[in-house]
Amino acid sequence: LVRIVGLRKSFGAIEVLKGVDLEVARGECVSIVGPSGSGKTTLLRCVNFLERPTGGEVWIDGVRIGQKDSGGRVRDLSDREMAGERAEIGFVFQRFNLFPHLTALENVTLAPRRVRKLGPAEAREVGIEMLTKVGLAHKVDDYPERLSGGQQQRVAIARVLAMQPKLILFDEPTSALDPELVGEVLAVMRKLAEEGRTMMIVTHEIQFAGDVSDRAIFMDEGRIVEQGPPKEVFKNPAQERTRTFLKKIL
Ligand code: ATP
Repeated sequence: LVRIVGLRKSFGAIEVLKGVDLEVARGECVSIVGPSGSGKTTLLRCVNFLERPTGGEVWIDGVRIGQKDSGGRVRDLSDREMAGERAEIGFVFQRFNLFPHLTALENVTLAPRRVRKLGPAEAREVGIEMLTKVGLAHKVDDYPERLSGGQQQRVAIARVLAMQPKLILFDEPTSALDPELVGEVLAVMRKLAEEGRTMMIVTHEIQFAGDVSDRAIFMDEGRIVEQGPPKEVFKNPAQERTRTFLKKIL
C-alpha cells in the first residue's frame, strides 16, 4: 500500500532524512522507534506531505503523493490539491489538536461533512459509530475541556476513522498523556491493528510495539538502521546502535 523510495528531507543545511526506503503492505502495522531527532516525525509528515520532501518518492496505493502527471508533465500539487489527497491518510498527533469550541461529535463529523459531503444525519450516524468504537458513546456532546487527555486522544482517533482512511499515521500518540491514561489509547490502537488496518506508529512504547506490530523499524540519524519482526529487533537486535538505544530506554 505504501512505497517510500529514497526519501530525503532537509531543513536549511540540516538533512533530517537521508534516503529512506520503506514498503508497508495493506493491513500491516509497522512501529518506528529511534532516538529523539532521528527523523521519525519528519518521516510520517513526509508520507502525507505535511512536509514536502526534498527528494525521493512516496506512493500510496499506486498513486504518487504530492505530484500529478498532467499530460506527461509531472508537477507538484498545490497545498489545496494536497488537502484532498490527505483525506485518504489519517494522522493522529501527539497533541490531540481537537477544536475546543466543538463537541466530541462535532469534531468527529466536521471532515466527513466538509470533505466527504455527508448530510447531517448521516454524519451524525458515522460520528456516533466511531465514538462508540473508541468507547466514548457517553461523551458525544462533551467539549474537549471536559474530557481527559486519553479521552481527547480517543476522539482524535475516532475523527480519523470517520474519514475511512487507507492508512493511519500515529505520531507518539501517548507521549503527552499521564501514565494512567496511556493504556486506554493503546487498547484502541490494538483493536485497530487487529482489524487489519494499515498503520505506521512512531512510539516509545516498546512493549506495545512488540505485542501489536507486525514489523519494527529502528531509525537513527535519518536512516533506517534495522527492521524486522518486533521480537527480533527488540529482543535480539543485529545492530549495535539499536542495542544501545534499547538499553537506554528499557
Ligand atoms: P522526537 O522523538 O524528538 O520527536 P524525531 O525522531 O521524531 O524526534 P524529528 O522530529 O523528525 O525527529 O526531527 C528531526 C530533526 O529535524 C530535529 O533535529 C529537528 O530539530 C529537525 N526539524 C524538524 N522539523 C523542523 C522544522 N520544521 N524546521 C527545522 N528543523 C526541523
